[in-house]
Amino acid sequence: VHGAETLGFQAEVKQLLHLMIHSLYSNKEIFLRELVSNASDACDKLRFEAIDEPDLLQGDTDLRIRVEYDAAARSVTISDNGVGMSRDEAVSHLGTIARSGTKEFFSRLTGDKQKDAQLIGQFGVGFYSSFIVAQKVSVLSRRAGAVETDAVLWESDGQGEFSVTQVEKADRGTSVTLYLREGEDEFLSGWKLREVLRRYSDHISLPIQMLKEEWDSEKSEQVKKTEWETINQANALWTRGKSDITDEQYQEFYKHVAHDYEDALAWTHNRVEGRSEYTQLLYIPKHAPMDLWDREGKRGVKLYVKRVFIMDDAEQLLPMYLRFVRGVIDSADLPLNVSRELLQESRDVRVIREGSTKRVLSLLEDLAENKPEQYTTFWEQFGQVIKEGTGEDTANKERIAKLLRFASTHADNAAQTVSFADYVGRMKEGQDKIYYVSADSFAAASHSPHLEIFRKKGLEVLLLSDRVDEWMLSYLRDFDGKSLVSIAKGGLDLDQLADDDEKKHQTEVAETFKPLVERLKAALTEKVKDVRVTGRLVDSPACVVVDENELSPHLLRMLQSAGQ
Ligand code: ADP
Ligand code: MG
Repeated sequence: VHGAETLGFQAEVKQLLHLMIHSLYSNKEIFLRELVSNASDACDKLRFEAIDEPDLLQGDTDLRIRVEYDAAARSVTISDNGVGMSRDEAVSHLGTIARSGTKEFFSRLTGDKQKDAQLIGQFGVGFYSSFIVAQKVSVLSRRAGAVETDAVLWESDGQGEFSVTQVEKADRGTSVTLYLREGEDEFLSGWKLREVLRRYSDHISLPIQMLKEEWDSEKSEQVKKTEWETINQANALWTRGKSDITDEQYQEFYKHVAHDYEDALAWTHNRVEGRSEYTQLLYIPKHAPMDLWDREGKRGVKLYVKRVFIMDDAEQLLPMYLRFVRGVIDSADLPLNVSRELLQESRDVRVIREGSTKRVLSLLEDLAENKPEQYTTFWEQFGQVIKEGTGEDTANKERIAKLLRFASTHADNAAQTVSFADYVGRMKEGQDKIYYVSADSFAAASHSPHLEIFRKKGLEVLLLSDRVDEWMLSYLRDFDGKSLVSIAKGGLDLDQLADDDEKKHQTEVAETFKPLVERLKAALTEKVKDVRVTGRLVDSPACVVVDENELSPHLLRMLQSAGQ
């Protein structure tokens, strides 16, 4: 048996703790949601490990979560008989932040309380939220499979250090005890705890139990009995009928599966029967996660098989460009012992992926059509990722193209609000192409000299400046039968749109400047392929264009900077 050992928190944890206590105080009861959520995750993990190793359950198969309070000790305890933690696991899970995007998160902190409070919500709060109400937290845990004498006691006051001691624990699992700060006595009440648990944790699929209490009229106080009662519905939320689930319950469930602190933007919940049988409950978050652009970042949804948790982040169930979607897919067909490798080859998985992709696209179409404000939020957060779909998901390319939004010369500001359909609806008579210009930034695109003639003629041009745009355009060549044309490329044929006078004028001008063009050609032979008189400029005397079949200058610069 080792004695107590004192260790320091990772620097980021210290920062997080400080920030959390000060910025989330107005919403302090969320600690209960977070601890119950962890207890539920721990039971899910045990049930999963027990598929291969049934002995881990040691006869104690009724997984559950218990919440107790002790008025005299001024403490609240949340305990579970889930997978538990070894000493090393406790040290690493409760002393560091291993999540990807952590660096990014801390680099974005501003010191402004309100802004940082919002950021912290996006990062997810978790276990450390205990310190909002607790001056000291003790975690007593025994890993499933470990012996009675090999349990760990983790303790901290949330200041900068924690201690770990090897101790005994009679049963498997974890209990987390919060010693409340002064002034937090409201949580020392069965009524209050029940109210918070029902509000935040009703969706948890395991029983959450509390000791029964009864009013003792002689003593004039609530008296606790030794009997436990279950205070939530304790069935998996996604198995319930849609009409039996309130929006609040959907939102609380989202926070649990997504480890998010904010509400979701929208969700789709369906039971699919037929060739393949599964239930999906998929959510679109309100904000992009910190690791959206991180190749190693989290993606995918939770996979269950017949209500047994199988894995987090099952990335095979959705395409890459929908990596921001969170939620649950529960299959009736997959084997319980399915592995990530197996998922890759499974025909059932392919069917689920195709079906889920369609559901998410329908959900987005519905937002775009009926909830434009929500769609705007969605586009700001995830538009760049959706653009990847044009190359990744050729089967749904047209549906994806309809979801795209761009900046254009119509509104002439950087907000991406114009759809291809909007553009086509505003096309001039005789116009059969969709024009765009791409550059490194919105400012560069909107000041492109190539735009002059288009502005003069009142022709709308899409202004593209996202990194992914050029890549997208290599897959997306047309929309609704109209080809997408860069105005920075040579041979731009605006003749159909010119009236007879203009055409006559252009021929005359070309004739007049023939000698000049010849001289320029001779002088620039080494540097350019051709010199032409053009009708595309209004104020600028000359511009350099790319031959129709060549890479655009913007893409060329991108490739060069990537070392190609
Ligand atoms: P998250 O739940 O998003 O991973 P938390 O801060 O809530 O982050 O928890 C950190 C980690 O601590 C968990 O991922 C888990 O490994 C471990 N943990 C927390 N509570 C428990 C528990 N009751 N049983 C087992 N492990 C736990
Ligand atoms: Mg958690």
